[in-house]
Amino acid sequence: MEMLNIKINGMPFSVEKNTTILDACRQFGIKIPTLCFLRDINEIGACRMCMVEVKGARSLVASCVYPIDREGTEIFTNSPKVIESRKTTLELILSNHDKKCLSCPRNNNCELQALCKEYGIEDENKFEGANPVLPIDTTTDHLVRNNNKCILCRRCVAACKEQHVGVIGPNNRGFDTTIGCAFDQNLADVACVSCGQCTAVCPTGALVVKDETAKVFEAIADPEKVVIVQTAPAVRAALGEEFGMPIGTNAEGKMVASLRRLGFDKVFDTNFGADLTILEEGTEFIDRVKNGGVLPMITSCSPGWIKFCEHYYPDLLPNLSTCKSPQQMTGAIIKSYYAEKEGIDPKNIVSVSVMPCTAKKFEHKRDDQGKDGIKDVDIVITTRELADMIKKAGLQFTELPDEDYDPALGIFTGAAVIFGATGGVMEAALRSVADILTGDDLKKVDYHEVRGTQPIKYATYDVAGMEVKVAVTSGLDNAAKLLDEIRAGKADYQFVEIMCCPGGCVNGGGQPIVPASVRNYVDIKAERAKVLYDQDAGLPMRKSHESPIVKKLYEEYLGEPGGHKAHELLHTTYVERTKY
Ligand code: SF4
Ligand code: SF4
Ligand code: SF4
Repeated sequence: MEMLNIKINGMPFSVEKNTTILDACRQFGIKIPTLCFLRDINEIGACRMCMVEVKGARSLVASCVYPIDREGTEIFTNSPKVIESRKTTLELILSNHDKKCLSCPRNNNCELQALCKEYGIEDENKFEGANPVLPIDTTTDHLVRNNNKCILCRRCVAACKEQHVGVIGPNNRGFDTTIGCAFDQNLADVACVSCGQCTAVCPTGALVVKDETAKVFEAIADPEKVVIVQTAPAVRAALGEEFGMPIGTNAEGKMVASLRRLGFDKVFDTNFGADLTILEEGTEFIDRVKNGGVLPMITSCSPGWIKFCEHYYPDLLPNLSTCKSPQQMTGAIIKSYYAEKEGIDPKNIVSVSVMPCTAKKFEHKRDDQGKDGIKDVDIVITTRELADMIKKAGLQFTELPDEDYDPALGIFTGAAVIFGATGGVMEAALRSVADILTGDDLKKVDYHEVRGTQPIKYATYDVAGMEVKVAVTSGLDNAAKLLDEIRAGKADYQFVEIMCCPGGCVNGGGQPIVPASVRNYVDIKAERAKVLYDQDAGLPMRKSHESPIVKKLYEEYLGEPGGHKAHELLHTTYVERTKY
């Protein structure tokens, strides 16, 4: 490794050759402002916020893409020339920006607004731009695009391309440039998979999750309605970030307490549905292996992945497990078994779910996700929307006590908790399938080979004398590589887990926004996943088939896993969708 001696703002440092100025400064405790830069996926040097002075260079340089390759390089990051340049960049951006901060969904959580404050912008109208009034795209169930707030940083374009989808990009040229779909089509009319990754990286209010919190407040205020909420495993691993808790904090207890104080009648855990999913999916897998079904069987918990398969790999739809997602299974049981037991008319139940995922907003409205005209789930809100509700209600989140879920559908195993991280569904399934096939309570619980955020993980296990080859991936670009192998007949796996979002649900499109200045340097996927693996390790029950409420459900209501009633309530079908 070749090291170079350099100076930053007159101070001597030693840095590895070809490190960018941005990274070198970061190593030495200097944060350089950025707007377009996203590590590995959008390193385009376009926004000009990260400009610095390099002695001898003819003009300022973009530090995010400028490699230090000379001994004795001298860099200035806060000279009057640099500060003036950054201020002018901000003023030019503002010249063509709607600047309605007070009513903007990203007020107080906007990277542009924060930089304007940091650089002391005094006159946001210093330059007069064209300021055309652009149409707002509200056509999808999961997001709203308001190009009047877009700064053309192209982070969303990179995130969408990284998902192997690429349905958004720049249209037109120069001052007329806008970001959108080809031929300015609405997002609902193209093959967007609803993952919401674009909303998680947008630095401004140009791309936001569709807000459905008003519907939830309305339902809670209706005395005729029984409003039941379920929360996905990954929500507890990130919600605290919205209230200043460090990344990697488990906020489960305070989240449950806040849901009760918001007025929900029952607080259940999607983990219950995750345990149930394993019983159904595990049974389906064993059946396919024993009876010559379509292999590899691919997991079906992630609705963004399902939509991707329907648009881009419809020939592989028979490989998908027919199991509904844990959200939908929990919803189906709330409106059937639980409603019957409690003597509640399912028509009076409003079933709300809190998800890390924006694709769930699409999923719950799909055909075949309900029974007799009653939807399994009525309203889906994201982690970010729940945080907004808690703030609106004035709840002092960090001061709340830790409370437990309502036990009826709120008891869960460690296997369910890890569903929120890539590899978790596979590990949970292996724990149960191995026990079921051997008829034993096996000591092996941890399947480390399928954990972690590597692009694709492969493993071979001996399960009750049978060789089971598995593959696990997350992020749709990685998924596409695996699917191409399967399509080409080159894969000999029996069981595959695919999650839409890179790293799994912990990094879902509806999770708290982490500014690029943090996201570029902290592995948020790993930090949040650790919360779930730690919780799993500390639970007394770690295999889904040990869940007492799942056992009782089969005994009292469903009969056998994979049986007729289970199929009616817990399984679904898929449709081929167009690619363009
Ligand atoms: S995007 Fe940011 S700067 Fe623009 S209106 Fe919203 S909060 Fe204000
Ligand atoms: S939701 Fe996902 S697929 Fe759709 S535009 Fe955004 S990044 Fe692309
Ligand atoms: S929508 Fe957001 S992420 Fe996309 S280019 Fe505009 S400001 Fe950047």
